[in-house]
Amino acid sequence: MQAAVLHHLGGPFSVEEVDLLAPGPGEVRVRLAAAGVCHSDWHMVVGDLHRPLPVILGHEGAGIVEALGPGVTAVQPGDPVILNWAPDCGHCFYCSRAQPALCETFAPVRRSGTMLDGTTRFRINGESVCQFSTLSTFAEACIAPQQACIPIQRDIPLDIAALVGCAVTTGVGAVLNTAQVKSGESIAVYGCGGVGLNILQGAALVGAHPIIAIDQAPAKMDIARQFGATHALMAGADTEAEIRELTGGRGADYVFEAIGLTAVQEAAMAAVRPGGALVIVGVAPLDSSARFSTFEMHVREKRILGCFYGSTVTRRDFPRILDLYRAGKLKLDELISKRYPLEQINEAYADLLEGDIRRGVILFDGVQPNG
Ligand SMILES: [Zn+2]
Ligand SMILES: [Zn+2]
Repeated sequence: MQAAVLHHLGGPFSVEEVDLLAPGPGEVRVRLAAAGVCHSDWHMVVGDLHRPLPVILGHEGAGIVEALGPGVTAVQPGDPVILNWAPDCGHCFYCSRAQPALCETFAPVRRSGTMLDGTTRFRINGESVCQFSTLSTFAEACIAPQQACIPIQRDIPLDIAALVGCAVTTGVGAVLNTAQVKSGESIAVYGCGGVGLNILQGAALVGAHPIIAIDQAPAKMDIARQFGATHALMAGADTEAEIRELTGGRGADYVFEAIGLTAVQEAAMAAVRPGGALVIVGVAPLDSSARFSTFEMHVREKRILGCFYGSTVTRRDFPRILDLYRAGKLKLDELISKRYPLEQINEAYADLLEGDIRRGVILFDGVQPNG
């Protein structure tokens, strides 16, 4: 089977033949239908985040269950599933506190590039190839822990479902779960990529106002309004002043940073009103640290909320997001701006870095997007 392999930092991806071992105990083989082209994978390519090489990246995906390892009870062959890149064991300290993305069973495994038993399931000429977040969706099929397979109903197109596996859940979850924004509260979002657009529509869903989008690409202004922004601002020296002007001179109740740049995080903190919160959603490089005035945090009660995977509980939130999509309350079809075959994955990332697209999706042969 074909997969996009990263052999060297900096890339490019090499689409080549790889072997996939049989699923082990508690594991599932999933035939991928679609995989989202997410910026987080690019952080691995350029070395902002570290994983052992060679590795098959891709963490946003949906497909059909093909085969089960011993002891799997969560899914059956033929089930359409969304892959959850932060699987949870269900019984550790964090899982018991509804914070499954922090699961202490799976978090170290995600970072090691292996499965739970410390080994991988991909081989090239008999040599082990690392997995990404226990998945690896830039491949025609992958082995996933059963905890990473969330079954969905058959009416959902699988390219749409793939996006729910990361960008949609992260963005909408940042609003609903992490910040818990309420009707009438003001928000600003720095960065209108795949995650930022979903923060905007999550904010529209809960009746936030105003909803202020900030990006440096002129093409994003109209797109941001389409996804719920009441105001779209070109990023610049006046951005903070413009946000204040739209929020009674105070700053926004919640400011979301959806890029992962420390300079933007610092600018975003300046746009938070006293008593409000900065929400860190974007993936920053491993060794980055921003500078904030702790005096301001003290006297103005400004808070910082870390947001990992939208603070999601996937078994609760994936079905909830799909229900809202069916009801026309979340725009998911409109998120996809371009579809690519796996062979064009390098082109897909070039387009992502150009910044003129919403979300690119890799479509695989043999599995129809509508299941
Ligand atoms: Zn992602
Ligand atoms: Zn756990």
